[in-house]
Amino acid sequence: MAIDMTPWPGVDVEKYRAAGYWQGETFAHFLTSRARAHGDRVALVDDRTRLTYAELDAQTDRLTHGLRELGLGADDRVLVQLPNRVEFLLLWFALMKIGAIPVHAQPGHRRSEMVHLAQHSDAVAYVVPDLHAGFDHRELAAAVQSVSPGLKHVIVVGDPGAGTGFTPFSGLADPTPAPGPAITSRALGGDAALLLLSGGTTGLPKLIPRTHDDYRYNAVAAGEVCGLTAESVYLAALPVAFNYTMNCPGVLGALTVGGRVVLASNPDPGYCFDLIEREGVTIAAINPQLAPVWLDEAMATDADLSSLRVLQVGSARLADGTAREMVARFDCVIQQVFGMAEGLLCLTRLDDPPEIITTTQGRPISSADEVRVAGPDDREVPEGEEGELLVRGPYTLRGYYHADEHNVKSFTHDGFYRSGDRVRRRPTGHLVVVGRSKDQINRGGEKIPATEVEGHLLAHAAVRSVALLPAPDADLGERSVAFIVVDGASAPDRRELAAFLEQRGVAAYKAPDEVRVLDVMPLTPVGKMDKKALAARIRAEQGESGPSA
Ligand code: AMP
Repeated sequence: MAIDMTPWPGVDVEKYRAAGYWQGETFAHFLTSRARAHGDRVALVDDRTRLTYAELDAQTDRLTHGLRELGLGADDRVLVQLPNRVEFLLLWFALMKIGAIPVHAQPGHRRSEMVHLAQHSDAVAYVVPDLHAGFDHRELAAAVQSVSPGLKHVIVVGDPGAGTGFTPFSGLADPTPAPGPAITSRALGGDAALLLLSGGTTGLPKLIPRTHDDYRYNAVAAGEVCGLTAESVYLAALPVAFNYTMNCPGVLGALTVGGRVVLASNPDPGYCFDLIEREGVTIAAINPQLAPVWLDEAMATDADLSSLRVLQVGSARLADGTAREMVARFDCVIQQVFGMAEGLLCLTRLDDPPEIITTTQGRPISSADEVRVAGPDDREVPEGEEGELLVRGPYTLRGYYHADEHNVKSFTHDGFYRSGDRVRRRPTGHLVVVGRSKDQINRGGEKIPATEVEGHLLAHAAVRSVALLPAPDADLGERSVAFIVVDGASAPDRRELAAFLEQRGVAAYKAPDEVRVLDVMPLTPVGKMDKKALAARIRAEQGESGPSA
């Protein structure tokens, strides 16, 4: 039985199937069919390993036996918190083959986020590296498991550690496959294939069910816009756990057409440029925070970047000036990417004129994406005016996982997802992101749900009230500012609050970049915290009145 999720209405299902967007192909059979067509071609490369399609398929087959022996099977949720290594995709496709459901965690998530994810998804297994970026994930896994009774297995890529009882990933890939088929998934195209994490606004982060049909279509449509072919080589410079890197068109887009995926262990441009030269990378994806660093390195490097056809920049607002500089300095097409794990993906087109590429965040990849730029009454505002972006379509969710109350607020009565992004639409259909109505900070592409962090900060003995807001930042795009009113004489500083959050197991990127102490919190006439007044204060200090452009 598939996990329950809010379905698309029957008429839409018929429509999307008839149009060929949804083809009923699941990820369970994805590799086997690709291996048949492209067996000897290299599919996946990381710092230590190169795998052809045939090898990738065979290795995931072997892994399925180990996973099944552990007791994993259809619809079991498995937390995946792995860095950019081939094991991420070996595991991912093996889970697809047995019908289990990966839950994508971010590499930086810590106890607080992981416990929530484990409990909310009812996960039965958690897959971690031993050590990554100086952090011992086994300790984290032990802490999460100790309070999550449903989490039966911790699987470790690398050394599981003595006496932990954790399962070594390497031990799951039995070199002599047990009898029986590798692919046991009975999933249908319309069933949930994976759970992604939402950036979150209120309360704790929500889970986004993505179906085989909708996620496949997302990859295919994005790949078409980017002109991907079997000759394409995609560089994953950002974590593959991100929807952006996985599917826009990303890893799955490249593998769909028999291309090659190169997994970079970090986005440092010196290292990535060597990979571009060595592997003949044709398309890479970065965020606006990396754009200036990549620009500088591109001016200085000896690496041959001539294979690069498309450089994508997305996940946060790219300043128009930086976009212009990139267009001028890179000898390839710059593509703006505006998307969300919930679904909708907008891309500038490869043949869009520079003015569009440098001043817009692209247009939807599918002609079936229905975009409404709406006023407070949910009605379309006049063309060119600012409004909230509402969307529905063949790869945008109709409801978060097990979040009935939240879903009432997050969707219109006719199924449009309220993105919380403020946009303007150009006559060409391109969208310009001008701001955000959701209570979230986009810190260099990493989303910080304000209320979640405020809740943690309020637990500090000296904090009486707190409001977390974004402020423009030259490097990050936005940094987080905590306005606090304190109890008593001494106010905690940034370092103390960061240490406090770390103790509570909160991901480091959520710690406020700046702390400001207020005598009193500004309140609205109905006595609510007046974040608008605080935002206006930040704007006044910046001497500007809108988002960075
Ligand atoms: P996520 O689901 O983590 O990918 O976050 C999606 C959100 O990131 C969107 O709803 C936007 O708020 C923001 N975002 C993504 N791409 C862009 C972009 N190119 N410009 C501005 N905001 C963006």
